[in-house]
Amino acid sequence: MPGHTDQTLRPFLWRAARMFADTEIVSRTHAGVSRYDYATYEDRTARLANALDSIGIERGERVGTFCWNHHRHFETYFGVPSSGAQLHTINPLLPDEHVQYIVSNAEDRIVFVDPSLAETLADAAADDPDSFASVAQFVVMGDAEAVPDVSLDPLTDYESFVGDESTEYDWPLLSGDQPAGMCYTSGTTGQPKGVEYTQEMLWAHTMATITPQGLDIDAGDVVMPVVPMFHVNAWGMPFTTTAVGAKHVYPGPSPDPADLAGLIEAEEVTLTAGVPTVWIGLLEYLEEEEADLSSLERIVIGGSAAPKSMIERFDDLGIEVAHAWGMTEMSPIGSVAHLKPGMESWDAGDRYGKRAKQGLMVPGLEFQVIDDDGEEVPWNGEDFGELWIRGPWVTTEYYERPEANEEDFHEGWLKTGDVVTVDPEGYIQIVDRAKDVIKSGGEWISSVELENELMAHDDVAEATVIGVPHERWQERPVAFVVPGEGADRDSLGDELLEGIEAEYPKWWRPDDVLFIDEVPKTATGKFDKKVLREEYGDSFVEGRVPEEAAPESD
Ligand code: AMP
Repeated sequence: MPGHTDQTLRPFLWRAARMFADTEIVSRTHAGVSRYDYATYEDRTARLANALDSIGIERGERVGTFCWNHHRHFETYFGVPSSGAQLHTINPLLPDEHVQYIVSNAEDRIVFVDPSLAETLADAAADDPDSFASVAQFVVMGDAEAVPDVSLDPLTDYESFVGDESTEYDWPLLSGDQPAGMCYTSGTTGQPKGVEYTQEMLWAHTMATITPQGLDIDAGDVVMPVVPMFHVNAWGMPFTTTAVGAKHVYPGPSPDPADLAGLIEAEEVTLTAGVPTVWIGLLEYLEEEEADLSSLERIVIGGSAAPKSMIERFDDLGIEVAHAWGMTEMSPIGSVAHLKPGMESWDAGDRYGKRAKQGLMVPGLEFQVIDDDGEEVPWNGEDFGELWIRGPWVTTEYYERPEANEEDFHEGWLKTGDVVTVDPEGYIQIVDRAKDVIKSGGEWISSVELENELMAHDDVAEATVIGVPHERWQERPVAFVVPGEGADRDSLGDELLEGIEAEYPKWWRPDDVLFIDEVPKTATGKFDKKVLREEYGDSFVEGRVPEEAAPESD
């Protein structure tokens, strides 16, 4: 259709900067609280877009970020994709080897990095310079004083980078299929897989999640995403918040519960979002300290299952929990556990039962649940199978990973790897995971990588790692090891854990190493982790170590 424009991000900011010009964007930073309005924000995104042009970033080229949640990171959210480049948010908590793979696979041309993360990035780059060969510029998120003494080259600071540029920018009319964002998922065996978000995927996700059936965001909200901006665009909240013209609050680097409570109170936050671990911390803090959270109306909890008890406790504080499920592959939101009309009058047990499920699909998505025989399971709340999903903001492929595409997609459906039931009212509930990974505090740990590391030790005959339930972190890794003949059990546990610590981030270290005589196997000879989970999982929930397999190390 002549003159027709595609679904892109730019009009969201165009509207906010004109109709909500005075609405604030507030950010906690190392240097104190930053505060400006949408009008200034738009000027700064234009400066950034001009700066990217000045150093020759072309349409479709990737711009990496290695940052926490703050206003400068948010400037890349519109400045990069609306200029035609592709915003690639990199998770700074990943092992170096994954960061190296991701930067080289994405061929990032420039990387924005927080002062507190610059050393981590510099170490990864120094360890494998080839993987950073595409990077022509590093930019520290701050002013000249914020630039640390690290070996990233060439290195400048953000304020100098954008400083002399014009606040006018001729924003291009982009096509809907222009790649706008990118995020790698580690919820997988093998190397992380890249998911690209086109302009129209982000537009569709924004429009769907604004609605009451999604996250229900409006101009009067004050939105604080605690979920990191490197996790699928902070669940899209910077886009939704802008689309409705609401106030943004960014909690900055590594916020603790006192920081969060302080920001909620000072900025009158109405809506926040993050993984359960964050809210356990806040609830504990509230037991000890006084805080006025009366502005807070809703918390979106996702990434891992929100426990029923957490939903109840926030209800008691007058704060509604919206339990949401999603995936990197889905931009990310899929379902939210809102009650249907009439359910409000159900007794508390039944209501909480529904709200603790992963919920109802957001309008725009379709799903089916497929059992081991390839048949769709009935919606009876009991039969289970793998959740397959499709829709405008669901990817249909991974970036340059044909083997994974073959495995994880079927005729346009994404096979999620989540094993679910669906009840007669249409609420999905995750009952198991088909993928061999562990999610701890919202971050993935690869059991396969840990197993390979353990089995590389001469005194290990067999080893396997399972995720066991954990109250604070939802899941933690525990290693089961069959020692080789003559192995010194007294020292082996410590040695294995030290080996893992040397190679991987601290939080990958298994909580326990248990020695067993044999790893249970399936009929086809594969490790049968289900048996171990059934045998030992509950013992860990109760915080006790089974006597018959007492850890040789802690
Ligand atoms: P990610 O791609 O890192 O966002 O992880 C997506 C995966 O996290 C899903 O496939 C689920 O296994 C898990 N997940 C996300 N949200 C929830 C939730 N509300 N309850 C249980 N698991 C969840």
